[in-house]
Amino acid sequence: MILLKNVDKYYDSRFQRTFVLKGVNLEVNQGEFVSIMGPSGAGKSTLLNIIGLLDEPGAGEYYFWDAPAHQIKEKQKVQYHRSHIGFIFQAFHLIDELNVYENIETPLIYRGIKAKERKALVADLLDRFNIVAKKDLFPNQLSGGQQQLVAIARAIIGNPKLLLADEPTGNLHSEQGEMIMKLLKNLNEEGMTIIQVTHSEENARYGTRIVRLIDGQVQEDSPVVNRK
Ligand code: ADP
Ligand code: ADP
Repeated sequence: MILLKNVDKYYDSRFQRTFVLKGVNLEVNQGEFVSIMGPSGAGKSTLLNIIGLLDEPGAGEYYFWDAPAHQIKEKQKVQYHRSHIGFIFQAFHLIDELNVYENIETPLIYRGIKAKERKALVADLLDRFNIVAKKDLFPNQLSGGQQQLVAIARAIIGNPKLLLADEPTGNLHSEQGEMIMKLLKNLNEEGMTIIQVTHSEENARYGTRIVRLIDGQVQEDSPVVNRK
């Protein structure tokens, strides 16, 4: 599903080239739940952004769903984002001016889904995530955990092939973080492929595999034993 071959990412300044990723090889199959770990500055977010087509490798090859992503045109990328990849972030990134219902509905509007179908899809997720009573509230009226629930609902409402999460519990108290991790695990068990960046060894164990980056290189790639 995802294949990175010898991917480099670097930034050039006048006098030197600084590598953020160096020779990264990574294959992720459908149904996996991969946790990318490593110290701050190791290149985790950069790797996630390349996987999510938000950033481009400086060198090497990247295949997304067998398509050579290094050849995907900008216009197509937008299409890919909308239909194949869901994103969630540490800071939620909900739209403050839209209520819960509208935030979740937004990606469907962009994709040209008809009103009736949108309504059914949103109602379904509100119900499933147990937030029907919150549908008229705005993001600033919700707890962090609830905001992240809404962000996850928005990310998966288009039924993406892949869900990417950058420190999804980084802004949450442990109880709400646990709730979010359990939800991600459930989604994965239902077939959603997930890649998360996390600093937490505990949260990594909700997944199936840990990839550790150090100085832009894969230092360890191993299955999770004793999954949570
Ligand atoms: P992590 O997520 O592991 O903390 P990042 O992927 O965010 O790491 O960043 C890796 C490194 O890349 C950091 O040292 C950061 O300073 C550097 N970096 C990121 N973006 C740029 C940029 N636009 N120009 C130069 N360096 C950058
Ligand atoms: P019903 O019980 O008739 O389905 P709803 O309140 O669920 O009533 O929906 C009525 C209409 O308003 C639907 O078209 C739905 O898409 C929209 N809608 C429902 N809740 C919200 C909300 N919180 N924000 C924006 N639109 C909403």
